[in-house]
Amino acid sequence: MSEISIDDSPIKLAGVGPFLLGKLNDFGINKIIDLLFLFPIRYEDRTRIANIDSLVPGEKKLIEVEIDEVKIIFRGRRVMVCRVYDDSAMINLKFFHFSNSQFNNLKAAKRVRCFGEARQNKQIIEMIHPEYKIINSSSENLNTNLTAVYPSAGGLHQARIRSLIEQSLKILEKSYSKIDFLSPIIGGAYPSLTDSLRFLHSPPANSDIKLLEQRRHPSQIRISLEEMLAQRLALLRLSNKNKEDLSEKIVKKDDSVDQFINSLPFELTNAQSSVINEIFTDLKKNIPMHRLLQGDVGSGKTVVAASAALRCHSNSLQAVFMAPTELLAEQHYINFKEWFNFLDIDIAFLSGSTPEKERSTILEKIKSGKSSIIIGTHALFQRAVEFNKVGLIIIDEQHRFGVDQRLKLKLKGRDFSPHQLVITATPIPRTLAMIAYADLDSSIINELPKGRQLVETNVMPEAKRDILVKRVLAHCKKGQQAYWVCPLIEESEVIDSQAAKNLIHELSIVMPTIEIGLLHGKMKYDEKEKVMRAFKNKKIDLLVSTTVIEVGVDVPNATLMVIENSERMGLSQLHQLRGRVGRGDFKSNCILLYKPPLNELSRQRLGAIRETNDGFIVAKKDLELRGPGEILGKRQAGLCKLKIADFSRDSFLLSEVIELSDKIISERPDLINSLIERWFGDTANYAKV
Ligand code: ADP
Ligand code: MG
Repeated sequence: MSEISIDDSPIKLAGVGPFLLGKLNDFGINKIIDLLFLFPIRYEDRTRIANIDSLVPGEKKLIEVEIDEVKIIFRGRRVMVCRVYDDSAMINLKFFHFSNSQFNNLKAAKRVRCFGEARQNKQIIEMIHPEYKIINSSSENLNTNLTAVYPSAGGLHQARIRSLIEQSLKILEKSYSKIDFLSPIIGGAYPSLTDSLRFLHSPPANSDIKLLEQRRHPSQIRISLEEMLAQRLALLRLSNKNKEDLSEKIVKKDDSVDQFINSLPFELTNAQSSVINEIFTDLKKNIPMHRLLQGDVGSGKTVVAASAALRCHSNSLQAVFMAPTELLAEQHYINFKEWFNFLDIDIAFLSGSTPEKERSTILEKIKSGKSSIIIGTHALFQRAVEFNKVGLIIIDEQHRFGVDQRLKLKLKGRDFSPHQLVITATPIPRTLAMIAYADLDSSIINELPKGRQLVETNVMPEAKRDILVKRVLAHCKKGQQAYWVCPLIEESEVIDSQAAKNLIHELSIVMPTIEIGLLHGKMKYDEKEKVMRAFKNKKIDLLVSTTVIEVGVDVPNATLMVIENSERMGLSQLHQLRGRVGRGDFKSNCILLYKPPLNELSRQRLGAIRETNDGFIVAKKDLELRGPGEILGKRQAGLCKLKIADFSRDSFLLSEVIELSDKIISERPDLINSLIERWFGDTANYAKV
C-alpha cells in the first residue's frame, strides 16, 4: 500500500479488478480520490443495540436477539419466518428470498444481530429482510462509527463501496497537505478538507445524524463551499476560453432595425432599448457574445431578440432562434413573419413535427443560406440540420435546456463561433447568477411596458367552482377571453391531457353558450396551431389547457385565468402561467383553485404568489421554499450537476463563494485547474470545444 497515491487508479485498491474498474469508470470514478467525493446519501446507526420493545415502525435499528424458532410457511409463496426475542420482547423476522443454506444456518444458530426497519403488521411489529449476522458471543465488537449509505454507484454493493472508501481514506491520510490546498485561503472558520472527508465517510457514533442528513454539518458546509467555488471558477474559465474564439462582427449596415422598431404599435421601454444597445455593442466585437437576458414574463424580451436577429440578417449571417416548445417556437415564427414582412427575409421554421416533404426543402434552404432566420425547437440540434453561416444563436426560456445542448448548437457554427443570447423569464438572484451563470454576461429588463396592470390573484378552494363557472361565463360574454389550466396530476402530459379532456367535457355542459377550445401537449402540431389561431382570433372564448401554455403564449385579450390544483405547482411555474394574462390594457385576474387541506409549503407558495406580481420576488421566495431546481432548471445537469452543494440550502454561502473565488483568481491562480479537475474531471474539458 505504501506507494499508492490518491491520484492513482482505483485498480490499485484491494479487490478491484478490470471488471470493477470498468464499473467505477462508468460512474466517473477514475482516481482513488474520486471515491472520496462519492458522498453518503444518509447514515445508519449500528453503534448501539436497541431493545425490541423500543422499536418504532419506520425506523432502522440494530437489535441483538436469541433465536426461538425458524420455519418456512406458505402465503402464496415461500416465506421464512424467524421468531426471535430479547429481554424486552419478541419479534418476527421475515424473508421472502432465501436459500436453503440460509435457512439451515439460521436454524442451527442461537444468536443473531440484525439491522433493519421495523414495520407494523396489524398488531405486531416485524422486520422484513433485515441484514443479519450470526454471532457466537455477545462480546463481538459493535461499530464505533455511524455507517454511511452511498448512492448505488454502478450497482455496486454497499459493502463493496464501503471497503473501497475505507482503503481510500487510509491513503488520504498520507496525502494530507496535497489535497488541502484551499484551506489556507478559505481560512480557519471551517474544518480542513481532509478532516471533512474523513468525518463524512465515517462519523463518530455520537454525531448528529439529523444535522448530517440535512447537510448542515460544518464538514458538509466546507465541502459545499469548495464545490461552489469550483463551479464558479470552471464557468469563468469557460468564459475566458470562449473569449479566445473568433466571431463575425455584426454591425449596423442599414436602417432595418429602426424601421422594425418604428413599425411596432408601441414604444419600447427604456429597459428594452438599453438592453438592445448592450447586445449591439457585444455583436460589434469579434469575440463571441455570451449574454443572459433576464426579464419578467411579459417584459417584452421577444422584440429584443428579434432586433438582434434582424441585425444579424442585415450582415448576411443566419440567426437561429430556439424555443423549448413547439407552441412557443411557432408563436415566435408567426410574430417574426408579421414583424418583418416589410422586408424580404426568408424565415424558416423547423420542429419535430415538420412533415417529411417540407422538411427537405427547409433543410436545403437552411444549408444554402437562403433562410436567414431559423426558428425552431430541439429539432434544430439534429444531425441533418446544416447551417450556412450562423452569426447568432438565441435560446429562449433557457432554463429548459442544458448547457450541453447549447454547446451542440455552437459546434454547428463553421470557422467562427456564433454570438449567443440566452433568454430567461425566471429572474436569477444576482449572487446566484454570479456562480451558476458565471460564464455569461447579464442584461436585465427591469420594467414592464407602460399601462400593464397588475394581475389580481385570488386563492379559492375547489368547492367554490360553481361561482367560478358563473364568473367565467360572464367574463366571456363581455367579449374577453379566459384560460382554464387543468389539474396537474403528475408530470405526465398523457395523464394531464386526459384530465384536460375530462374538464372540457364538464365545462361545456355547464357553459353551453360559449366556445371552448382544448390545448394539450399530446395534440398534433396542426391541431395545436389551429386552436391557437382560433383563440388569437377570438373564435374560442375559453381555452382549457394543460401547463403547455406555461411559456410564450401571448393573447392580450385573454384576461382571466383559472389554475386548478395550484397547490401542486411550483412558484415559478405559477408565475409563468399567470404571465399569460395581464398582457393587454384590461385588468386581469388569476384564480388559484386548490384542494384543501393545504400543507404548510403550499400555503406559503400560494400566499407568495397572491401577494406579488414581481418575478424577482417570486424567484427569491422560490429559492427559499423549494430550491433552485426550478430556477436553474436543466442547467444543473451537465457540467453543473452538484454533488453536495445546493444553491438554495447553501445560499448563505453565495457571497463568500464570490469573494473567495475572486481571491483565488488574484492570489493563487495556480490552484484553479487542480480544483476544477478535482470536481469536474474530464467534463470540465468541454470548455475546450
Ligand atoms: P416575454 O418577455 O414574456 O417574452 P413578450 O416578448 O412575449 O414577453 O411580450 C409580451 C407582449 O408585450 C407581446 O404582446 C409584445 O408584443 C408586447 N410588448 C413588448 N414590448 C412592449 C412595449 N414596449 N410596450 C407594449 N407592449 C409590448
Ligand atoms: Mg418570451
